[in-house]
Amino acid sequence: MIKYPRGHGADAGSEELALRFVNTLAWRNAATPEERLPDAESLVEWLVNSEIISPQTAGRLRKKGARQKVEARTIHRQALGLREALSRLFMARTRSLTPPREDLHVLNRILAESQPRIAALQEEAASGPTWRLLPSEGAANEILAPIAWSAAELLTGPRATRVRQCADERGCGAMFLDQSRLNNRRWCSMGDCGNRAKAKRHYLRKKQNPNAQSARAK
Ligand SMILES: [Zn+2]
Repeated sequence: MIKYPRGHGADAGSEELALRFVNTLAWRNAATPEERLPDAESLVEWLVNSEIISPQTAGRLRKKGARQKVEARTIHRQALGLREALSRLFMARTRSLTPPREDLHVLNRILAESQPRIAALQEEAASGPTWRLLPSEGAANEILAPIAWSAAELLTGPRATRVRQCADERGCGAMFLDQSRLNNRRWCSMGDCGNRAKAKRHYLRKKQNPNAQSARAK
């Protein structure tokens, strides 16, 4: 039985927006992936934490969601649809495969419908001055637009070849942008999956040659 570390991926806050969104299905390649956006409320929470919407817009969305439950569920479903489409598009791009037509359609529909309503906020966000959508009525095409833009920019730009999926063999599956100088990063985080892989290599080396360390010490 695999024990999944809690809070896994929490240190990936600096990752590209589109990839962070894809990673909200944690342990993507494991037998039981972990859904971090199980409902509309958790989606709103994520959008605020990612500074895509302001706390005021979040408040409005929550009120609206409480009144219009069916609509809130539709937006949530649309968001997860976009997320899974992006996951497949990035995987296809990484492997130089033809992107699934339906997934491209999902992304392009949001791009086509999104109005570029961006404004610089006067106030400071937690991470410093930021760009954010103007408070909207919360139409899916508006709140998901920044994610779609981030994905489009990443998929079509020179950094597309730097998108990777964590090599963790338990099935972490987190996606990240390899910004290492040697272009050889393999794990989502050195503090978690990377460390575990290192410990395992060390264990296997010792198992194959238990005297290795003492021989060196002589
Ligand atoms: Zn990982």
